[in-house]
Parts: sequence; structure tokens; C-alpha cells
Amino acid sequence: MSAEPLFTLTAGPVQPSAETIRALATPVYDQFDPYFLELYESTVENLRIAMGVSTAPVILHGEAVLGLEAAAASLIARDDVVLNLASGVYGKGYGYWAARYCKELLEIEVPYNQVINPNDVEQMFRKRPDIAIVAVVHSETPSGTLNPVREIAAVCARYGALLIVDAVSSFGATEVDFEGWPADLVVVGPQKALGGPPGLSLLYVSDRAWKKIEDNPDAPVASMLSISDWRNAHLASVKFPFTPSITEIYALNSTIAQYLREGPKAAWARHTRVANAVQAGLLGMGLELWPEKREHCSPALTAFKLPTGCTGAAVRAHARAHYGVMISGGYGELTDSLLRIGHMGPTAYPVFAAVGISAVGQSMRDLGVNVDVGAGVSAAMSAVSTFTK
Ligand SMILES: *Cc1c(COP(=O)(O)O)cnc(C)c1O
Repeated sequence: MSAEPLFTLTAGPVQPSAETIRALATPVYDQFDPYFLELYESTVENLRIAMGVSTAPVILHGEAVLGLEAAAASLIARDDVVLNLASGVYGKGYGYWAARYCKELLEIEVPYNQVINPNDVEQMFRKRPDIAIVAVVHSETPSGTLNPVREIAAVCARYGALLIVDAVSSFGATEVDFEGWPADLVVVGPQKALGGPPGLSLLYVSDRAWKKIEDNPDAPVASMLSISDWRNAHLASVKFPFTPSITEIYALNSTIAQYLREGPKAAWARHTRVANAVQAGLLGMGLELWPEKREHCSPALTAFKLPTGCTGAAVRAHARAHYGVMISGGYGELTDSLLRIGHMGPTAYPVFAAVGISAVGQSMRDLGVNVDVGAGVSAAMSAVSTFTK
């Protein structure tokens, strides 16, 4: 068996902190034990505070894809026109779910090294004021880009459409302004910038979205895809529809406590700072960022182009085997185009920028690609010390 990695710098799931790992070791008590009932209720209350929202979020007991699919199944009714915004693999994929439930699917697709232009969304609404629901990914993890959701949400609000947001990898790394944007159904994952293990979907549902779900005769009930089944399940007085993922709740309780202790603004600044350092390091080494414009880079991870002379698979395998560092390759359509260094949650600290840059750079050199590792590390570290924001 392979040795365990020394450093996991992937695009998620992340390697949780020691505090989270200790929480995972809590004994599994019965779901109706008062200890667990109170822990669940207070975890949801702390999550509400962490999200900065006024209504209780809903936890679904499966990895974030469950929440994303449940959002489409619950919110989209059979006579709805849906506009899907695709600037990457996850955005494109959302259209396939949406198409299952809606009357008509419209799509704006841009090259995966770009972000959605809010003016294009506005143009689409002018042509099609009957659009009822829009779906967008905030941080497009496979491309390392961040969509301008605030501006997109403002357009949706002007035309009265509901907005579904995949904020799985952005929440915790940057501001997700649920009620301010506003968004209507937002899915967050604990395994990215919050630094928890994968296994839960955390959902913000606006009052308007609840109304739409209640009015949708096709919205799932008594189903793994049901959001309504879990609406009040956090209350100790309400029975769980089925057994919750008890251990995952222990971990979530811990990660949210850590996030609130640090403070959301400090956590966002930490991610932005390390993202800036990793970008500077890659550029300093002589590589190119994948996103067309640096200002479109996600604070959660950095995607960069593969130079000629090596494959992504070879660089990743070499970095893992020789330096113990696990990084991510391209995903879906982007498999052979890029590599990704994650800087989420417990790895969003400056020293990991140096680790990621040196492992990537030296692996490329070992494989015969001429990059300047020293210049990369130096650029990353001086970006850390001069960064102000
Ligand atoms: C991680 C992630 C998900 C969850 O999908 P997996 O493929 O199961 O990891 C969904 N959306 C985004 C943007 C993500 O980063």
C-alpha cells in the first residue's frame, strides 16, 4: 500500500484539522439521545449564524451533489423555464439535472477559462422574460474561477427569477451573501473551504424558495431528494425523517465552531492572501494561470496551464511519489489542460503556498520541464509579506 500523503493540497475534499478529526472520534449515540438532539439543533443554529441568514438552513445527509440535485428536483416545476449558466464542468452539469425537471432549458455557456458576464444574463432576460429560475456556480472548482454572483443575482431579482447557487467550494473562502445578493437556494459543502469531511449538503433556502417548493406538486417528499422532509428536523421536538449521518454532524459542529471562532472575514482574507501567493508563485516560476484574467481566479484553489513537455498525470504522480504532495488534475473536459493546487480551509496558510509551488515546480524539473522553482517560491513568499487587503 502507498504511504499516506504528507500534504493534501487538492481541490477538495481537504484534510480536516486535528480538532475536526477529534470530533469525528465522538462515539455514535442514538439519534434520539438528548445529547445528539441538542448537538444537532445547536449545529444548525451555528450554521445559520455562520451563513449570516435569518432562516434555519437545512442539512441533507449526503455529499454536496445530493443537495445540488435536490435543489433542482424541489424548486424546478414542470412548467418552468430555467436559465443555466455554464462557465465550467459543474455549471454545465447542472443543466443536465435542470433539464429533467423543467419545461425548457436555456443556457449561456462561455469558455471554461472565463466567467459569466452579467450583461449576457440581462440580454437573455430581455429576450425571455418568462425565465423562472437561474442556476449558477459561484466558485467553478474545475476551472479555478469565481463567477460574479452578486451582479448576476441583481439581474435575476430585477426580473423576479429565483436563483440557485452552487457555493460548495466558495463558502468559507469568500463572502457568500445569501440574503443580500439575494439568492434563493444555495448549496454549501463542508469538505472544501470549511475544512470538514465530505458527507453532508448544507442548504440555504429563501422564503420565496420555500413557497415555490410548497407550491410545486412534483417536489419530492419521503425521498432522499426531499428538502421539505428535513425543513424542521433540526428542532429537538421534531423527529428525523430517517437516521442522520451522526458522525458527519459531529464534524460539522466542530468545523462551524472553528469558522466562527476565527471569524468569517478573517477566514476569507486568509484564503485571498494564499490564493494571491500561489498565483504569484506559479507566474514567478514561468507558468500561466488557467483563468483568462487573474481577477477571475477563485480564492479556494488555483488552476494553471500545463506547460508543454509533461502530462498532468505524470506531474501529479511524481509530486505524490517523490515529495508526498497530492495535488489535483483537470476534471471532466479539462482533464488534459490544467493542474490545480487547492488552498482551502486548513491549507489556506502561506506556508502551503511554498509547499505547493516547490512540489509542482521540482516535479516538472525532474520531468525535464524548465521552470524556475526558486523564483516561484520567492515570488509566492514575497506576495505573502506584501499582501494587503
Ligand atoms: C466539490 C464540489 C461539488 C461536489 O461535487 P463532487 O464532484 O462530489 O466533489 C459540487 N460543486 C462544486 C463547485 C464543487 O467544488
